[in-house]
Amino acid sequence: MARTDGLLFRQLFEKESCTYTYLLADKSTKEAVIIDPVLETLDRDVKLLEELELKLQFAVNTHCHADHITSTGLMKERVDGLKSAISRFSGAAADIKLSEGDEVKFGKFHLSVRETPGHTDGCITLVLCDQSMAFTGDALLIRGCGRTDFQQGSAPKLYQSVHEKILSLPEECLLYPAHDYLGQTVSTVGEERKFNPRLTKTLEEFVKIMDNLNLSKPKKLDIALPANIVCGLHGL
Ligand code: FE
Repeated sequence: MARTDGLLFRQLFEKESCTYTYLLADKSTKEAVIIDPVLETLDRDVKLLEELELKLQFAVNTHCHADHITSTGLMKERVDGLKSAISRFSGAAADIKLSEGDEVKFGKFHLSVRETPGHTDGCITLVLCDQSMAFTGDALLIRGCGRTDFQQGSAPKLYQSVHEKILSLPEECLLYPAHDYLGQTVSTVGEERKFNPRLTKTLEEFVKIMDNLNLSKPKKLDIALPANIVCGLHGL
């Protein structure tokens, strides 16, 4: 794909919450964006940015996470000029509130914002300008999807978001989720259209599946939500 020539791309992993953090940069201008950075891996991520001599412009959270604390607030204190961004529907603080169709630019590239509510009201999917990659947060996971039983979760909304905004992307578009608990790293629209055990069902069947997951609360819920609503922890 011609337009992704010159793109630097890294998939980083935080093992406690099984979160993926993504780093994208324009190799020639060095301008970069980070998606869903995690508190525990702040030092690792800042070191990598320094080693690669990247100019990090934006730290975007795909939603207000309930299972881990974002490193965005502290990263802003370590990276000059860094701006935080999150959906305007997230209820969380950030420098930039994103809406459908907004573009997060880094060098000659950009990520387009698609609002994909359902796991939370403020969930977004970020689609690379040539539609070769999409970062789906917790809306669509590999062969799964985010839970819909708290944080304004709604199974019908999630079903609609995933079908209208994610599975409508080109078949070969690579899908990168915010988490994976089985060691899977990437999927494609074509694969998920065929093999996702939940989203291949009818809406009625999907809602029934989601209503009967009986999941326990995330371990860090009570500390993660209050922290993430203010863009993560801050120094003095
Ligand atoms: Fe989540």
